[in-house]
Amino acid sequence: MTDTKITLPESDIPTHYYNIQPDLPTPLAPPLHPGTKEPIGPEMLAPIFPMGVIKHEVTQEPMVEIPDQVRDIYRLYRPSPVFRAKALEELLDTPARIYYKSECGSPVGSHKLNTALMQAYINKQEGVKRIATETGAGQWGSAMACACKLMGLECMVYMVRVSYDQKPYRRIMMKTYGADVVASPSNLTEAGRAALAENPDSPGSLGLAISEAVEDAVKRDDTKYALGSVLNHVLLHQTIIGQEAIKQMELAGDYPDILIGCHGGGSNFAGLAFPFLKDKLKGNRKNLRAIAVEPKSCPSLTGGVREYDFGDVAGNTPLMLMHTLGHKFIPPPVHAGGLRYHGSAPLVSHLLAANVIEAEAYTQGEVFASAMKFAQCEGTIPAPESTHAIHSAIVHALKAREAGEKKVILFNLSGHGHFDLGAYDSYLSGTMDLNS
Ligand SMILES: *Cc1c(COP(=O)(O)O)cnc(C)c1O
Repeated sequence: MTDTKITLPESDIPTHYYNIQPDLPTPLAPPLHPGTKEPIGPEMLAPIFPMGVIKHEVTQEPMVEIPDQVRDIYRLYRPSPVFRAKALEELLDTPARIYYKSECGSPVGSHKLNTALMQAYINKQEGVKRIATETGAGQWGSAMACACKLMGLECMVYMVRVSYDQKPYRRIMMKTYGADVVASPSNLTEAGRAALAENPDSPGSLGLAISEAVEDAVKRDDTKYALGSVLNHVLLHQTIIGQEAIKQMELAGDYPDILIGCHGGGSNFAGLAFPFLKDKLKGNRKNLRAIAVEPKSCPSLTGGVREYDFGDVAGNTPLMLMHTLGHKFIPPPVHAGGLRYHGSAPLVSHLLAANVIEAEAYTQGEVFASAMKFAQCEGTIPAPESTHAIHSAIVHALKAREAGEKKVILFNLSGHGHFDLGAYDSYLSGTMDLNS
């Protein structure tokens, strides 16, 4: 009989991040300068990122050491537990064994603190005093605000106007951590002032908030910028999730057939899957499946094309080779705000193109129906983003029932939904657009 909750001692917090780059079947294509179309060097990123972050972005070292100070703070919430979803298995009457790695117990309620802490540490080491960043729904902003305070940095968050007005609790959380939070567009930057001149009631967008935060970082000597997904260094930092999960599955005496993560920019999916995929890339565990799950309304992996595109809406970033819906694509306002990104991490896109991983897309109606089942069996109310992973796990558990196969499924529960009860309210009251 397996335990319900598989935990590890603090001494099992990983000492290194796992870098998938040297294990890739072919090397990752470099980012390009938008003007010259030549590969960019570190000097182009240096005005916005500290050198240590740029090193993590490009390193080919197989394992990257985690500094003791960062591991010490990870102790606040790591190792995170793996649960066996016994009640959900029973409800589904499936021979599949369903496990989930839960990142809900982090102080900010999601996996994003894993990279925020490492990024804040590097900035502090390099003498940076202040981080400027953007946030849409508020998950990344609250992770960065928390990490900055714990590491002794100031934090400036440009929060998309609509969320600033409609989701006050994440804003209050950031302020509780001592961050400055302004609605974007703001009058603090040229990009913001231009947007306000055009439309004083502009609702803002993630792309615009990125432009404001980057401008802030470029203009001030004491400030750098930080990003919460998509880039190689963010995925690298999240691999502590999968490394812990490998040990936990060993303790459970099981090995996953199917790994599942929801997919916005790709970081929590990669964090769980990449350490397991190392085996597959070396020619073992050939049948191991890893599935990234996205909303039907923003299907960068299942509906986009892999080409060089900008990371932001304004077209200011270097060009990255990734699955994309086009940098001007504005998805409908679905509740899983953290999955509303037009592109996918270059590393995840690369593995999809190489047929190492798979992707699936589902509607809001489907994922929230599964979220209700999960909450009522397992107790945890998942973040709207995480419900995509839950739904896919249920789909595959039901397939296993049909086939009479004892599949082992492991998914990443990237966060809890306590700040997103409005989404549940709209589902329960029947006002949610179920087909979106
Ligand atoms: C931001 C977020 C995501 C999506 O981002 P990824 O980089 O794809 O992981 C998923 N789940 C939660 C809870 C988030 O906050």
